[in-house]
Amino acid sequence: MPDYSPLKKKFGEHCLFGEPAANFTTYRAGGRAEVLVKPADAGELLWLTAWCRASGAPLLVLGRGSNVLVSDKGLAGVAALTERLSKIEISAGGITAQAGVLWDEVARLSAENGLAGFEKTSGIPGSVGGALRMNAGAFGQETFDRLAYVDAFSSDGGTVRLGKKEIAFGYRRVEGLRGFTLLSARFEFEPGETARLIQDRSCVLAAREAKQPLDHPSAGSVFKRPPGDYASRLIDAAGLKGYKIGGAEVSAKHAGFIVNSGSATAADIYALIGEVRARVKEKTGIELELEQILLGEF
Ligand SMILES: Cc1cc2nc3c(=O)[nH]c(=O)nc-3n(C[C@H](O)[C@H](O)[C@H](O)COP(=O)(O)OP(=O)(O)OC[C@H]3O[C@@H](n4cnc5c(N)ncnc54)[C@H](O)[C@@H]3O)c2cc1C
Repeated sequence: MPDYSPLKKKFGEHCLFGEPAANFTTYRAGGRAEVLVKPADAGELLWLTAWCRASGAPLLVLGRGSNVLVSDKGLAGVAALTERLSKIEISAGGITAQAGVLWDEVARLSAENGLAGFEKTSGIPGSVGGALRMNAGAFGQETFDRLAYVDAFSSDGGTVRLGKKEIAFGYRRVEGLRGFTLLSARFEFEPGETARLIQDRSCVLAAREAKQPLDHPSAGSVFKRPPGDYASRLIDAAGLKGYKIGGAEVSAKHAGFIVNSGSATAADIYALIGEVRARVKEKTGIELELEQILLGEF
């Protein structure tokens, strides 16, 4: 095991040992991160990447932890949270945002400045880095729609600028960014009518409030949308709304979500995911594909 004391020396209070995943994921469940570091800027993140490479420690970069399930056995090595990389600026019809900016800041700022294309993604509770990595989206709009380029570190530590055309992506998947540490991105928009964009944003936020179980910890939709259908419809049709394993529950409000009703372990959530897949397969023949990312050993 590497000697992690240089990380404490470098990052001080922004380096934590044994932090529970409940404190850095929206499921509020799972084991502990061996080391959790919150770099202040791209320079510190680059330093950390180089240190991990040199000392053989695994490095995982996370945003807001809103699309991941961390195993109860925890995360070996170093997890870096990007929340302090939080600069955002508007210029010449576009927005440049660092990886740790809340996605909803991009959605809000674009709508308020008459920049059309992200208003319907309002309320996605992740970071810019997580949105890029997942090609997050909602109501027919997604992150890659307005992407101009991404600045990132490649696995050998070099900084690269990748234009949208150079990145392979699809529905909730971005193969072309695998292995990169994402630093910032530039988005470019069509002009839109500010009042209408703000109105669309409000409608989307109200729809989320009405339809999603926002009062319980979750990581959003558990499964991807199968072609021509909705995972939530299939799960509901399989009679699984409200179905529980331990502290994990298929939301009675939105069957596409699994919520932590207070005491869920990652094992409860994982077992429920398996049960839902098996029952939907048995009932409809459709194999649901996981949208959420499993981290650690399951
Ligand atoms: C209530 C709720 C509603 C949601 N609604 C939606 C929705 O409408 N649409 C939707 O698409 N998603 C939705 N989600 C899921 C989630 O918010 C998105 O997938 C979001 O984009 C994840 O961002 P994050 O910062 O939390 O990523 P994380 O969960 O922290 O990480 C996700 C992946 O991205 C990688 N990653 C993150 N940052 C970086 C970086 N800087 N460099 C390299 N890799 C990185 C991580 O390693 C991991 O593989 C919802 C979640 C919740 C809890």
